[in-house]
Amino acid sequence: MDLIVARPEGLYCPAGDFYIDPWRGVDRAVITHGHGDHARWGSRQYLAAAPGEGVLRARLGQDINLQTLAYGERIDHHGVTLSFHPAGHVLGSAQVRLEYQGEVWVASGDYKVEPDGTCAAFEPVRCDCFITESTFGLPIYRWAPQAEIFADINAWWRSNAEAGRASVLFAYAFGKAQRILHGIDASIGPLLVHGAVEPLNAVYRAAGVALPATRYAGDVRKNDPELRQALVIAPPSAGGSTWMRRFGDCSDAFASGWMLLRGTRRRRGVDRGFALSDHADWPGLLWAIGQTGAERVMATHGQVEPLVRYLCEQGLDARAFATEYGEEDDTPVSEESS
Ligand SMILES: [Zn+2]
Ligand SMILES: [Zn+2]
Repeated sequence: MDLIVARPEGLYCPAGDFYIDPWRGVDRAVITHGHGDHARWGSRQYLAAAPGEGVLRARLGQDINLQTLAYGERIDHHGVTLSFHPAGHVLGSAQVRLEYQGEVWVASGDYKVEPDGTCAAFEPVRCDCFITESTFGLPIYRWAPQAEIFADINAWWRSNAEAGRASVLFAYAFGKAQRILHGIDASIGPLLVHGAVEPLNAVYRAAGVALPATRYAGDVRKNDPELRQALVIAPPSAGGSTWMRRFGDCSDAFASGWMLLRGTRRRRGVDRGFALSDHADWPGLLWAIGQTGAERVMATHGQVEPLVRYLCEQGLDARAFATEYGEEDDTPVSEESS
């Protein structure tokens, strides 16, 4: 019998009688990370990795019934040994390792293999069956080293500041925004953030992640000269809204893995696109899968078919797993409603 199966409520472990990242309310929910498509409201009990506690409470409510485990700490539930291992995606993100009667399965949640300093770095976990995400599961997706991407962002910001123009960078409010704040050269100018971003900055700082000083953009007056030198971090939904008017003639940009495609950039209608992703690219997915030593692989999220086909050609037992992940942080910008 499989240790994890797909049910209408989400990925389910029959032996342990719990769900992993269920998209409906259930009795026992094991949560890989706080993004909206993985951590949903309405379950009776939650279990997550300890560094993710602040984010989960901020998003699902301070009073949720949440138990946490340190990375690597094991608990036993109905004979199933469960532990969390860093996924390198966002603060608190974890892979879930399950062991039952000598068989080991790992559900990755979302993961990224390049360490970034805002969360624990991805750790490969040996297993018999690996449930991998596949958000960017096409060979065209290859990220530049993040140092290069940050150099590009810094150069864009610096030239705007020299021209007396604000730089507005759209980025997902949880994870991407903090990674940008952590990675950019804060000496270039002031850092302003949208109201959706600052509460998550506070959670990161409380967890000990070093972020430069930020100001709430709403507190800065329209003609304040500071605005013209600033880098403003805002969620994609702020684009085209009245909130943007205060920045006057500004330059805008979008930070997302989807920006690798010229077409998405054009549809988004921003001046610049920075292909900075919190997910593994194609070589990263293949490396991570290889590191697990798994003979069975199940792919979730996005482009699963090419990855499944490729893995089968390599002699693995690979399949697609139907899930409802990828509706928030992973949605291609061309299809985004917000
Ligand atoms: Zn995610
Ligand atoms: Zn996801």
